[in-house]
Amino acid sequence: MSTNREFDCVVIGAGIQGSFTAYQLAKKKKKVLLLEQFILPHTRGSSHGQTRIIRKAYEQDYYTHMMEECYELWAQLEREAGVKLYRQTGLLVMGPEKSQSYLLYKNTMERNKVPTVTLTHDNFSQHIPHVNLADGDEAVVDIAAGVLYADRALKTVQMQFQKLGGVIRDTEKVTDIKPGPVVTVSTPAGVYSAKSVVITAGPWANKLLAHTGIQVPLEVVKLNVCYWKEKVPGTYGVQQRFPCFLLTEGEESKYHIYGLPSNEYPGLVKVCYHIGGKTDPDQRDLQTDRSDIDILKRFIQRCLPGLIPEPAVVESCMYTMTPDSDFVLDHHPSYSNIVIGAGFSGHGFKFGPIVGKLLSELSTGEVPSYDLSPFRIRRFPSKTKSAL
Ligand SMILES: Cc1cc2nc3c(=O)[nH]c(=O)nc-3n(C[C@H](O)[C@H](O)[C@H](O)COP(=O)(O)OP(=O)(O)OC[C@H]3O[C@@H](n4cnc5c(N)ncnc54)[C@H](O)[C@@H]3O)c2cc1C
Repeated sequence: MSTNREFDCVVIGAGIQGSFTAYQLAKKKKKVLLLEQFILPHTRGSSHGQTRIIRKAYEQDYYTHMMEECYELWAQLEREAGVKLYRQTGLLVMGPEKSQSYLLYKNTMERNKVPTVTLTHDNFSQHIPHVNLADGDEAVVDIAAGVLYADRALKTVQMQFQKLGGVIRDTEKVTDIKPGPVVTVSTPAGVYSAKSVVITAGPWANKLLAHTGIQVPLEVVKLNVCYWKEKVPGTYGVQQRFPCFLLTEGEESKYHIYGLPSNEYPGLVKVCYHIGGKTDPDQRDLQTDRSDIDILKRFIQRCLPGLIPEPAVVESCMYTMTPDSDFVLDHHPSYSNIVIGAGFSGHGFKFGPIVGKLLSELSTGEVPSYDLSPFRIRRFPSKTKSAL
């Protein structure tokens, strides 16, 4: 007889990846416990906030391939729950016409027959007013891209998980993991046992992995999530069909700058720099670097003249970066019944449904639906806890 402390699977971390994994496992009729250290909902990890970009525009084919099915899975969740989670806006990818990064985006979309429209310097302003395209830049629009309502999505998947009989326990921080044929997981409220454990702890991944003898090369950074006020409300509005955008590289920066139309906060447009200052997730607010904001101000002055170049709202979020910005989706190298989903490198939200599916497959011993070689832990030099 199983007790309420024995599960088929314990998932640690109720961000978007852990929540989708728990949901997928519950769909397979597994008895699942989802543990979260904070009271839900919370704003201390990586999955909070109103919006995220969803797109097929990628530099690598494998992400574009996964997004095919992922759009379907998002739509399936919308239908199941009767909730709207996605709004199509298109994504404008801009960059130096001949640069490697811009061409990788453009070519990946072409190769994979993603519906696009290419805009040249000559016809750009006719289609996208109030945006200055730099000399020598070109733009391509990923037409099906858009906005995901992030907080709503997280709440929805957690609710659907519970409807399937899944158990969520928040304010239960996992303090120990003991590997074995049956894994035991300790929290201040007690000890749970499970046939398998999935670690989806976001920026805290290495803190948890330390209990299992390994570390993955992850760097946690704090992002300043900036919102900029429109000089004339509606200039860059979702109602006015202004798209999401991504600048692959520009005069101001060699890293991506991205933005979303004004939507969640009326009259405010979210524009962020895809890089942040290194932090410890438990001390996020002590990281006060604002150099990204200076870069964004210069970008806004040059490229988005309809915005006041001073952020009106600055929120905080964290990325968990791998050295190559590819995810970690794998079994633990020593314990096959411990599965790891980590290092989503600031672009994992849109993949939540697929990540959940893949991690659930790894945890039940099924053959994964996609080639996971880009996401293996072994691509990094091995580092055990004792070598730290
Ligand atoms: C500013 C910003 C913008 C972004 N924009 C996009 C975008 O446009 N498109 C996109 O696809 N992605 C985007 N991302 C990335 C995406 O949001 C993340 O990749 C994704 O949310 C990561 O989810 P996660 O579940 O891995 O981590 P998290 O959401 O951090 O979840 C991990 C959870 O584990 C819990 N936890 C940790 N340790 C323990 C423990 N010991 N015991 C119990 N619980 C624990 C944490 O409290 C947390 O709730 C963005 C991220 C940020 C920060």
